[in-house]
Amino acid sequence: MLSIKNLHASIDGREILRGIDLDVPTGQVHAIMGPNGSGKSTLSYVLAGREGYDITDGSILFDGEEIVETPAEERAAKGIFLAFQYPLEIPGVATMTFLKAAMNAQRKARGEAELTTPDFMRRVKTSAEKLNVTQEMLRRPLNVGFSGGEKKRNEILQMALLEPKLAILDETDSGLDIDALRVVSDGVNALRSPDRSMLVITHYQRLLDHIVPDVVHVMAAGRIVRSGGPELALELEANGYADYVGAAA
Ligand code: ADP
Ligand code: MG
Ligand code: MG
Repeated sequence: MLSIKNLHASIDGREILRGIDLDVPTGQVHAIMGPNGSGKSTLSYVLAGREGYDITDGSILFDGEEIVETPAEERAAKGIFLAFQYPLEIPGVATMTFLKAAMNAQRKARGEAELTTPDFMRRVKTSAEKLNVTQEMLRRPLNVGFSGGEKKRNEILQMALLEPKLAILDETDSGLDIDALRVVSDGVNALRSPDRSMLVITHYQRLLDHIVPDVVHVMAAGRIVRSGGPELALELEANGYADYVGAAA
C-alpha cells in the first residue's frame, strides 16, 4: 500500500526528514512513536501532500504509484486521508454541510457523480450513530465550541465517510483526554479492514493499549531508527526515548 524509500524533506532549507524508509502493507496498522521534534508531524504532512515542504530525495509509492509530485487533493481522491487535515473551526458552516462538501469534493476528483441528499443523509446517519455523533452536533457550525472528544469524534466520522485506503492519524502532543482517547481508538478499530492501512502517529504509549498495531516504528531526528512488534511500545514506555535521541543526533 505505502512504500517510502530514502525520503528527505526540508522546510526553508532545513532538513527535517533525513532518509525515511517505511513500508506499510495493505490491511496493517503501523504506529510511529518518537520524541518531540523528531519529524512525525512533518512526515504526516508530506504524505498528505501539504505545500511548503521541499522533497529533496527519495520516493513515496502509494498503491505502486509514485506520488511525490501529486497534489494533496489528488492524493485525497486516491484514498489518502490525514486526520486533522481540517481542524478548523468554521463558524458559518454546519458540520453536516462540511461533511457533504468533503465527500463530494472527493467524488468529483474521482470523476464520480455527486451524492444525492437522501444518499448522503443515509450514510451520515449510519456512521454518526455508530460514533455517537448526535444530530445536534451535525447541525452545529464545524468544530465551534466542540469539546476535545467531540472534535475527535467528528474527525473519525469524516474518516469513516471518506473510506480511505490509507488513514494517517497524527495524535499531536497537545494531549488526548480519556474521552478523546476512547473515541479515537474505537473509531480506528472499527475502521480496521483487510483493504485499509493505517498509520497512527503518537507520542503516547497509552493510545497503543487500545489500538494494538501490527508494527511499531521509532522515529528520531528524521529517520526511522527501529521497528518491532507491539511490545516495542511498552519498552519505550518503560525506558523513554533517551537512547534514540542520543543515537540519532
Ligand atoms: P514531531 O511531530 O515529531 O514533534 P515535527 O514534525 O512537528 O516533529 O517537527 C520536526 C522539526 O521540524 C522540529 O524541529 C520543528 O521545529 C521543525 N519544524 C516543523 N514545522 C516547521 C516549520 N513550518 N518551519 C520550520 N521548522 C519546522
Ligand atoms: Mg511535536
Ligand atoms: Mg507532531
